Amino acid sequence: MNRDAGKVITVRGLIEPTALGKVLMHEHVHADVFDPATNMPIETEEPTRPQRREFLLREALPWLTKLNDFGCHALVEASPPPTRAWPTMLQELSQRSGTHLIQSTGFYREVELGHYWATKPEYQIWPYVRRASVEELADFCTREILEGIHGTDVRAGVIKLAASAPTMTEAEDKAFRAGARAQLATGVHITTHCTSRGAESSQLKLLEIEGVDLRRVVIGHSAWHLIDRVWCAICLDWMKRGANFMPTNLFFFDPAERANHDRRYWQPLVDGIHRVFDAGHGDKLVLGLDSGFGSEEKTFKFLGFNAPPPWCHMFTHTLPNFRAMGLSADQENAMIRINPQRILPVC
Ligand SMILES: [Zn+2]
Repeated sequence: MNRDAGKVITVRGLIEPTALGKVLMHEHVHADVFDPATNMPIETEEPTRPQRREFLLREALPWLTKLNDFGCHALVEASPPPTRAWPTMLQELSQRSGTHLIQSTGFYREVELGHYWATKPEYQIWPYVRRASVEELADFCTREILEGIHGTDVRAGVIKLAASAPTMTEAEDKAFRAGARAQLATGVHITTHCTSRGAESSQLKLLEIEGVDLRRVVIGHSAWHLIDRVWCAICLDWMKRGANFMPTNLFFFDPAERANHDRRYWQPLVDGIHRVFDAGHGDKLVLGLDSGFGSEEKTFKFLGFNAPPPWCHMFTHTLPNFRAMGLSADQENAMIRINPQRILPVC
């Protein structure tokens, strides 16, 4: 029997799922992709520098602490290596805020050439993913979950895997196979980056071939899937086989800034969520904001696609608006509390 069974692996150790309260299932406390000193993507993880620690204590800690006021005591830090925070930094933030943090192992996607920081082919994906074999990548993730990250006692509690297009690149295919094997070896869940319609099926097919129970998979960034009737039906077929889906980036922007992200913009998603609940699969939905801090735009700062406040936006803006748009209290409770508390424990 797995020694972690039934418990959630957080940066402060194993906890009971009920201690999570409400949970944000895809956030970024620290997604540092770009090193301005070398003008290159970061390749090697290093202990947090004092300046960065001060930044996080000043900008992130108050909002992580504030989450507790909303009954939210946990978030999944979905930044994989080498972009994630040094594990003891997350441990300190968790200790001081009281909010449980679940750190990721795994791999980010191969970014399209010319997008973001991928100005050269060697910058498109973490070079280690191209270099290592599937077995080596699987061992890397498994060790981080079972033993700890970088010699610390902080263990990863989730496997992040990522691909954008419906057809994976060779490196992404390797990363998914490795992540699947680490999932089977450890029992933690897999959370994915899946921005394109069609990518959900290639990701789930591959994980299923590798033997992963699809109940242990959350397909992320899938608001665009659920908004559309045809794609929502495709997702429902996967939900029947166990897979979970996670709409993210559910921001209500200041109308002066982005007028289309208002209730009219999100109503089709709330309608899609109703379709899923009506079909009897409301137990397969969780929510994330994809909020936080990173250097996607070179400088490390509040991520540009976010609306403030960090993380708490879910409770100050998103859910109150969704409720006014017809989401029921039971539906909200299922997506933000009950379903995460079922998915996060090791099994
Ligand atoms: Zn993200």
